[in-house]
Amino acid sequence: MYRSAVPKNGPPPGATCESCGGVDDALEPVHRVYLEADEDGNLRPARTMPEVERWCPVCRAQYPHEPAGD
Ligand SMILES: [Zn+2]
Repeated sequence: MYRSAVPKNGPPPGATCESCGGVDDALEPVHRVYLEADEDGNLRPARTMPEVERWCPVCRAQYPHEPAGD
């Protein structure tokens, strides 16, 4: 989107993943989902946060979330 506006040797664009804090230019808006274990130990979604966070691909692969769309 705006990545081309930042020179390669300039300061970080400030686009940081709100889950791990890493700088990444492939952040996507998501809703964080918290899981809880039921009596059998199976994880199931317990709560979807209303706030939109921007996550990097690594966090989106590792942690439960729902796409926030655009
Ligand atoms: Zn991340």
